[in-house]
Amino acid sequence: MTAYWCELAWLGGDRAEAGVLVEVEAGLIAAVSAGTSAPASGARRLEGLTLPGLANAHSHAFQRALRGRTQHGSGSFWTWREQMYRVAERLDPESYHALARATYAEMALAGVTAVGEFHYLHHGRGGKPYGDANEMGRALITAAAEAGVRITLIDSCYLHGGIGEPPDGAQRRFSDGSADPWAERVDALREGGSVRIGAAIHSMRAVDPDAAAVVAGWARERDRPLHAHVSEQPAENDACLAAYGRTPTGLLSEAGALEARFTAVHATHLDDSDRSLLGGAGACCCVCPTTERDLADGIGLMSRLAQAGASLSLGSDSHAVIDLFEEARAVELDERLASGERGRHTAAALLRAASEGGHASLGWPDAGRIEVGARADLVTVSLGGVRLAGTEPENALDSVVFAAAAADVRHVLVDGREIVSDGRHATIDVARELHEAVLAATA
Ligand SMILES: [Zn+2]
Repeated sequence: MTAYWCELAWLGGDRAEAGVLVEVEAGLIAAVSAGTSAPASGARRLEGLTLPGLANAHSHAFQRALRGRTQHGSGSFWTWREQMYRVAERLDPESYHALARATYAEMALAGVTAVGEFHYLHHGRGGKPYGDANEMGRALITAAAEAGVRITLIDSCYLHGGIGEPPDGAQRRFSDGSADPWAERVDALREGGSVRIGAAIHSMRAVDPDAAAVVAGWARERDRPLHAHVSEQPAENDACLAAYGRTPTGLLSEAGALEARFTAVHATHLDDSDRSLLGGAGACCCVCPTTERDLADGIGLMSRLAQAGASLSLGSDSHAVIDLFEEARAVELDERLASGERGRHTAAALLRAASEGGHASLGWPDAGRIEVGARADLVTVSLGGVRLAGTEPENALDSVVFAAAAADVRHVLVDGREIVSDGRHATIDVARELHEAVLAATA
């Protein structure tokens, strides 16, 4: 049994609680008591605000190599995609492992205890499968284990370069040809410990409706998380309407994908019937505001989705930055810009999306809360740095959500193991490994 005494901790309410003693045994939270006035003897003292583990529910690890390299000049999502494909062309299992290990370690420093890796870079150059067809996926699983974070490998079916078009260039590395070989390959991946295997329909651009139904059935039969990119760009809606007379959400509904296990990534350009389909299914919507901004995608109005019954999660997606506080506040702040109104999402609701919502979306329903029986993930944010100095217990949640940076995270516990102490990763020199891996992927 290890005891942690938190100066302040968020236990799920609208305010932080003071003096919270958390006892941990065998990777789980065994006891929680608030209002303890002094550290119990032998307890590890955590100064600042302690949160449950954060979940990064949408990641493409290799895109970390693009940071700062796509900002010059003009363009759109579609021109950015060409730059992204150039990095995808270069990677092999070894260089991808190095890049993902450093990227997941950067996430650990930011308080991420579980990552959802939306994985589609499966095969060798030209689309030739590796000897082990899951070699790239296994490299990601190993990378997460070394960085100390849990992973849900969301293996994505990706078959077409666009509706009715064969995959081209880098896209050939993504495709299994059809849905059945995709399912066979993914069935060879094993879950356990800190690994879950989920499924994804890359998008209704890259997967036809029949194949989408096969992927949805695979996830349902095995009770796995199912994700899809949904309506990130207006052109995606236009293509689906032109080819099928349905929106991407309408097509996913007909394919049997819309259930509580389903997460719609982005969900930026929806109509009211899309929102009621997603909300009625109790699906999750994973919003990735720093990427959506970066790619000029648009602003999804998440309060409307929440009102319709959808839950929310957050992802850093292309890793333009890795900072879930920035993602969380952007959900509210971007909606303020679009709506002319303040205060549609509370700090507690945004933290819930960053923690419990994300973990649920990734198939870890026992994580993301500081409560008895939950996984012992603790993320302690210092309130003493320049960004948060002056914070009082009553406004600690608002301060952290609206002003903290990932660099304010001091300690991170994952399943009872301390992977970040005093802002340093336990085993990885993160900046050095990022530097080397990014240069190797882009030089
Ligand atoms: Zn994505």
